[in-house]
Amino acid sequence: MDCCICTTMPFPLRPPRNTICGACYDGARNIIGLISKPAETDQKGTQDLNCSPFSPPNSCKKLDEVSILMLQMTKTMDEQTEAINFLKGFIAAFSEQIHTDILVKPGNDGPSIPAHKAILATRSEIFKNMLDSDECKTAPNGTITLPELNHEELKCLIEFLYSGSLTLEKLEKHGYSLLLAADKYEIPYLQKLCERHMHKSLSTSNALDFLEISSICSNKELMERSLSFIVKNFHFIAFLPKYDEFVHKNPHLALQVTREFLKSKGKTN
Ligand SMILES: [Zn+2]
Repeated sequence: MDCCICTTMPFPLRPPRNTICGACYDGARNIIGLISKPAETDQKGTQDLNCSPFSPPNSCKKLDEVSILMLQMTKTMDEQTEAINFLKGFIAAFSEQIHTDILVKPGNDGPSIPAHKAILATRSEIFKNMLDSDECKTAPNGTITLPELNHEELKCLIEFLYSGSLTLEKLEKHGYSLLLAADKYEIPYLQKLCERHMHKSLSTSNALDFLEISSICSNKELMERSLSFIVKNFHFIAFLPKYDEFVHKNPHLALQVTREFLKSKGKTN
């Protein structure tokens, strides 16, 4: 149907303004619904992303008010960018080693990395306890060791603690180690970042790894997603050479996969 909104015709040839196609009608209704809905908070205290966090409840109910809302959002984003730029001073203190007061040592005798106790302690309760403990106070030069990380992984982790961000390249390269570190040292935001990346990148080549790591970290959501993905693609994954290795290493998970697969077959047959 000709539509006065999405038509490509020049203005004089456009259909009358009351002719609107289904897609434009639904889109307009969705936008109004989205901007009029109050920001909801779920049980975990996180904001529902389907709602606009920028507008007060029921403040905007017509499409012509969207531009006002967009301006408010842009202003808020600019202010947040300013705050982020201000906080970037921390990463400069790390990279330029300004007044560092602790050495963090990786496993395998890799070189230590100078850092700031205050940053480590504020980002992780476990680090705080480690730094408070007598063992750390008596360690030479005030050193703490994270034996499960190599030098490169440790540098990534510490950079994250200062900056709160990770490049895609680093997430792809060190995602597993960082998720394990986030779990061990109780760094929920890092955990969330790694999980988001894993959810997005779940594929037949990594689903078994994700299932294994989710089991180690007792990460229920990642486990459910990867398990369901493996079950859906089991006809392919079961014949991958890495599945043999997975079964030997994780017999309990392999058993779970088999049971879920059979359950799914039971549902469809
Ligand atoms: Zn249209």
